[in-house]
Amino acid sequence: MSVLVTGGAGYIGSHVVRLLQERGDQVVVVDDLSTGERDRIGEASLAVIDLARDDSVEKLAAAMGEHGVQSVIHIAAKKQVGESVKRPAWYYHQNVGGTANLLQAMEQAGVSKMMFSSSAATYGMPDVPEGTLLDEDVTPSPINPYGESKLACEWMIRAAGTAYGLRSVNLRYFNVAGAGWPDLGDPGVFNLIPIALQALTSGRQPSVFGNDYPTPDGTCIRDYVHVLDLADAHLAALDYLDRDDQPYDVFNVGTGHGASVTKVLDQIAGSTSLEVTPTVAERRPGDPATLVADVSRIESTLGWKATNDLAAIVDSAWRAWQH
Ligand code: UDP
Repeated sequence: MSVLVTGGAGYIGSHVVRLLQERGDQVVVVDDLSTGERDRIGEASLAVIDLARDDSVEKLAAAMGEHGVQSVIHIAAKKQVGESVKRPAWYYHQNVGGTANLLQAMEQAGVSKMMFSSSAATYGMPDVPEGTLLDEDVTPSPINPYGESKLACEWMIRAAGTAYGLRSVNLRYFNVAGAGWPDLGDPGVFNLIPIALQALTSGRQPSVFGNDYPTPDGTCIRDYVHVLDLADAHLAALDYLDRDDQPYDVFNVGTGHGASVTKVLDQIAGSTSLEVTPTVAERRPGDPATLVADVSRIESTLGWKATNDLAAIVDSAWRAWQH
């Protein structure tokens, strides 16, 4: 199969690319290399295209035609919540505009299958009792432009299905971390595990953003999923698009198990053998106390289940950090 992966040179995309290559698919990567790196994609073809530019439609359609592309995995996006709050129009332009261009190119080139990288950020601060696992029927209610842009893309992609039969599936990622191979670590330092590793290896201590939440140890609980498990979910989603019956177009990708900030930092201490004595800082605005996925839909419909636990995630992140 010939698959086009946008954002294929990035952290998550490069894992997807490598798994596709391992199973023998032909891969075309579209990446603007703003954060992606050419040496992460092996032998895949690379088209350097900024999706949000007006001329991208023609370029993308040409790349799809040239490589006989049958499916698109759309991962390329801006993904920093804080930045999205400061530059909302730019986030909409990049994420929603880029997806609009991609959809037009697919229609032009006759490519009818799409997997989209969505996010648990679409749920916002869910209005459910503390400790409830979030299933896909919770009404999305994002609380920042990043989450809004992801939800708008889901809507646009669904509307394309109604309009002209696009087959699509949206994966809502929870907290992605770790590395499937030491050379594919997360190059961005924007999330808890890389932030803590950077602090500790620079002789500083990590900060805990609030320890007075209504959770057992007072720190926020998240669902950390190994990036290699997540990449594997993309392959399962792609196969799903070839099935005759597609009862759902949205799936959570997580483990169904939560870990608190304190637990993650304890694991970091265990994996790195570094001394970890975090300092407690103010709560970060917009952080829900608990965000853990109900993963029954993806398990029963796609037959996918995460296989790596928190220790494997942190061990692999640490190996990649030292690479
Ligand atoms: N967090 C923290 N200290 C940090 C970075 C993050 O305590 O230096 C907390 C953050 O408040 C949240 C959790 O770790 O409760 C995960 O944050 P991250 O930014 O990695 O992901 P998010 O859940 O916000 O998407």
